[in-house]
Amino acid sequence: MLCANCGFKNPAHANFCQECGSRLARRCAACGEEVGPTAKYCQAVAFH
Ligand SMILES: [Zn+2]
Ligand SMILES: [Zn+2]
Repeated sequence: MLCANCGFKNPAHANFCQECGSRLARRCAACGEEVGPTAKYCQAVAFH
């Protein structure tokens, strides 16, 4: 996944950027809410 901070392309399972060390947050594509690394749906899914 791409680092939002520096744009470095990290492995999909990475939790932290291997280039700058920023936490790699996954965001819901529908609403932009931050979701956990194992979550299938965001916490706001009921409001989509
Ligand atoms: Zn980075
Ligand atoms: Zn969402």
